[in-house]
Amino acid sequence: MSDLRKRALFGSNKASEGTQAWVDTNLEKPKGKGSHEREKQTKGVLQQLSIIGLTFTLLCAVVYRAILWVPTPQGPDAPPQSFSEGRALQTTAYLSETIGPRIVGSPQIEQTAQYVERQALLLQKLAQQTRPDLVVEVDREQTTGAVNMVFAGTHMTNAYNNLTNIIVSIAPKSALNSKAVMINAHFDSVFESPGASDCAACVGTALEIARVIVASPDIQLAVPLMLLLNGGEETVLTAAHGFMKTSKWASSVGAFINLESTGPAGPDVLFQHTGSWTLEAYARGAKYPHGSAFGQDLFESRILSMDTDFRMFSSDYHGSLPGIDIAQVLDGAAYHSHHDTVERIRKGTIQMLGENVLGAVIEFAKSLKEQETKGLPEWDADGSVYFDFLGSKMMRYPLRFGKLVHALALPAVVLAIVLLRALKAQPILATLRGAVVRNAGVMCAAALPAALGAARVVITGKPMIWFGRFSLAHVANGPAALAGLLLPFALLPQAASNIEAAVLGASLVHATLAAVLTRNGLRSGFAFAMWAFAGIASLLVPRKASTTQKLAWAVITALPPLIGVAPSLMTMPLFVLEHLSTAGAGKPPLGDLTADVVMGVLFGLVAALVMGHLAAWLAHIVRPFIWRVILGLLLVSAAAAAYASSAEHAYSDAFPKRIMLQHLHLLGPDGAIQESRWTVATLDVVPVETALPKDTAYIDTYDRDWQALFPVGKMMRGVALPAPPPDSSIYRPGQLNISLTGVEPSPLGGKATRLSLLMQLPSPGWGSLNVTGPVVGWSFAEENPETQERITRFCGNEGSDSWPFWLDAEGQWEGKVRIELSAIGYKNTTALHDFKCQLPSWTTVSTMTTLQASFEF
Ligand SMILES: [Zn+2]
Repeated sequence: MSDLRKRALFGSNKASEGTQAWVDTNLEKPKGKGSHEREKQTKGVLQQLSIIGLTFTLLCAVVYRAILWVPTPQGPDAPPQSFSEGRALQTTAYLSETIGPRIVGSPQIEQTAQYVERQALLLQKLAQQTRPDLVVEVDREQTTGAVNMVFAGTHMTNAYNNLTNIIVSIAPKSALNSKAVMINAHFDSVFESPGASDCAACVGTALEIARVIVASPDIQLAVPLMLLLNGGEETVLTAAHGFMKTSKWASSVGAFINLESTGPAGPDVLFQHTGSWTLEAYARGAKYPHGSAFGQDLFESRILSMDTDFRMFSSDYHGSLPGIDIAQVLDGAAYHSHHDTVERIRKGTIQMLGENVLGAVIEFAKSLKEQETKGLPEWDADGSVYFDFLGSKMMRYPLRFGKLVHALALPAVVLAIVLLRALKAQPILATLRGAVVRNAGVMCAAALPAALGAARVVITGKPMIWFGRFSLAHVANGPAALAGLLLPFALLPQAASNIEAAVLGASLVHATLAAVLTRNGLRSGFAFAMWAFAGIASLLVPRKASTTQKLAWAVITALPPLIGVAPSLMTMPLFVLEHLSTAGAGKPPLGDLTADVVMGVLFGLVAALVMGHLAAWLAHIVRPFIWRVILGLLLVSAAAAAYASSAEHAYSDAFPKRIMLQHLHLLGPDGAIQESRWTVATLDVVPVETALPKDTAYIDTYDRDWQALFPVGKMMRGVALPAPPPDSSIYRPGQLNISLTGVEPSPLGGKATRLSLLMQLPSPGWGSLNVTGPVVGWSFAEENPETQERITRFCGNEGSDSWPFWLDAEGQWEGKVRIELSAIGYKNTTALHDFKCQLPSWTTVSTMTTLQASFEF
């Protein structure tokens, strides 16, 4: 290193003498020149505070604008060669308004399949007129099977019968035998939800993309495009599994693009991918790319009770394909509720989705064609590290490369520490103190808002009071998180004085985290590596520079992590906030605190990661009055919490409370109704009683009240009320039964006996079977479940009301094999309607009628 560079890096030898390097002399050693000097100090502090303040205000403004920006939507009369949101929404409106909820097993699901097939046939007709170079085929397949999988953290078996998939193949005659790029979109919906955004709009988008291609001779696909319009995603990914296992089309797919929605407000975000090249193709093709490795890490951690068909296609999970998963993420309050309507879909979001996916399809096709001759490098399967540059460009690099670069941050920081020590500029102890303070700062940033939230719930008894009130949630948590970041500096004033050591220490922490996370396969390591490198870069400034100049340089060098890390991280509290209404109820008394604690911790971690070592700078600037700043911040959060708590509850018509309402009928051994009850439950931490009249008389709940919704039932908490029996249109004795139709030695050998059984239901629908006793095998899945439990969900369309299956039992099984059956009917009965009408307008209610019976053999 040349002497000149050394001086630039660490300052002149003269200035680096002693260990109080970079101490702001103005503040540390007042020269006793009275009011003039103090004025100068105050001016300096104000300047520095405004640099930090302005940076983060601008950052917030730019990030939120980038998240919310959408292109101008094209109307239904747009030129045929353009993707039109208006046309995609026509399909969406037909599915969600004309047909309405489309639950597997209902007549509406068949109506939808027929409509989708008709649209595909129109496309085929259009192609015959406009594109003699294309072969368009439309196929309808029925699929039956079962899969062992993990959902909501639970191992389970998931069986399905006669589900419908519509397949549309658009193949260039020049590439008929090439592997296709497939767009997957599901047309079924959940109970009571019109499912406009989730996922009628996905179906509309897929069909509109296909139409644009057929109408545009300019678009020459390199390989075929296939649409899989699937009729069973809400039954936990069953139709996609069926496609992969049973479809004659499955083997001709080379890669997939899965479309999903967890909210109608967009933007469409790439949050999972398999294979580096798929991300590369998306990045090249998508006009307005959004996506972040944070999302992928979050989703892969499986702490969210959500899943998508991606799991069934991806070679990382149940499938065999490379691909990407795209979902619209904001306004999760409408997701899976009666609010998921066409009106609620934010204008422009489908235009953005369509243009992004159309571009991605073309690039996917090019890549697939290229692979026919060149193949793929071995490392491609690891995937990539990625984040978007404010929705305009996707930054990405292969994870293999990331593992190397992220790990380099640690030796780089260590080298800087050693060099500074050798130059007597910074003792190692001071740097280590900086690291300890950074660690403590992150922990306090998470702990303070969490503790404040928990205390608020204990005092007011109102958990999650900020649901749907996003500004309040930010003000209640954000300042407290910032106070937590500053607190260790207040306790250790030397750490705040020596900003160089504080930045170095923070960089050491960041570099260590980058190495550890990346080593464990977590892509989020990139954020810490960026902060570590930025930390070192911020020290490359002449020692003689003023504090304000050094701060300005620190902000400039922090721009890459600020832009790379902030957008996705700042979206995360918003996303989680909106989805807490489906996050599970938790057990009181501690369960009541979970939502507030989770949000506090999340805000703290986001604040810590978005600010990086600039938190140390903030502490450095405000150190003469740091305690007053901390107190002030805490007061702001406390005031926001107090104000929020003055409301009776957080819900409103637009941000309703989710309620599950079940008319449950327990059958006796003779098949007659033994008891009928209402079970009313919630999916969030606010007790369901909040939504019921004060004088409601409850009866005891059973463990098995929500068995029909296994395993989601485990996340719910509720009450039971006496209920009238069902009318005869719902159930007549004998309509629900499991009968033994045959006993023979198991063809699988051993000493097992095969019991052939027939399940009969009043109508096709959903439900669960819980088998106990000396059973060693069953017909519901390829292999035995990993757990000892033998519980299967089941769902099916027409014909599923009579469902044969078998069990293999061992030893003296007679009288010991027990099957508990819960069967859900989708019909909206008068009883359900009347009960629902009593509930307040700030609820969104999913209703079902369930029959439950036990059988012994
Ligand atoms: Zn969906």
